[in-house]
Amino acid sequence: MTRRLVPGSRLVLASHNRGKLREIAELVAPHGIDMVSAGELGLPEPDETEPDFVGNARLKAVAAASAAGLPALADDSGFCVAALGGAPGVYSARWAGPGKDFAAAMARVNREMAGCEDRRAWFVCVLCLAWPDGETASFMGRVEGQVAWPPRGGAGFGYDPMFVPLGGLQTYGEMAPAEKHADSHRARAMAQLSAACLKD
Ligand code: IMP
Repeated sequence: MTRRLVPGSRLVLASHNRGKLREIAELVAPHGIDMVSAGELGLPEPDETEPDFVGNARLKAVAAASAAGLPALADDSGFCVAALGGAPGVYSARWAGPGKDFAAAMARVNREMAGCEDRRAWFVCVLCLAWPDGETASFMGRVEGQVAWPPRGGAGFGYDPMFVPLGGLQTYGEMAPAEKHADSHRARAMAQLSAACLKD
């Protein structure tokens, strides 16, 4: 059985991405966990040197758990486009450059897709919970959809304005946070983590 976090436990959110921090805090809030972000603890942001989401989520969670001496939760996620062979994928943050310019990253996706009829895309989120002794548990969520162009909506973060989940009409950027959380890649990963590690 996977090790559990009991209500009242202190948990480090091993991310420096404000959009993710907000979403994870909202998803974890109902579980009565006392959360503190890596930034608040002054923890450094490790380089994402692994080739996949699972490896990078584990690397970030293990680094934070061992530095803080507390359980830590990390998210590695990305936007994947079928016509681009799954890119930007694990490089989603890096396509925005050091200035975190997601308008430019979205424009690059659109440019590289020029002439492609295949508009399929998906978001992936891997959440990894690491304990200070090195034990880890990872959970993956994925949502399928279509690339929208031009981008629409000012909600969310990253590539949200250019993604319409399957069966929907609005982009993630046009949805209220509660609507996105109802069934996003991050919510799907969190539902698994919650069933395995948070509920009694
Ligand atoms: P990383 O996991 O720190 O490598 O960064 C993941 C990147 O993927 C983020 O900076 C966003 O650009 C993108 N991303 C991940 N999840 C979402 C999401 O829910 N909406 C929009 N973009 C996302």
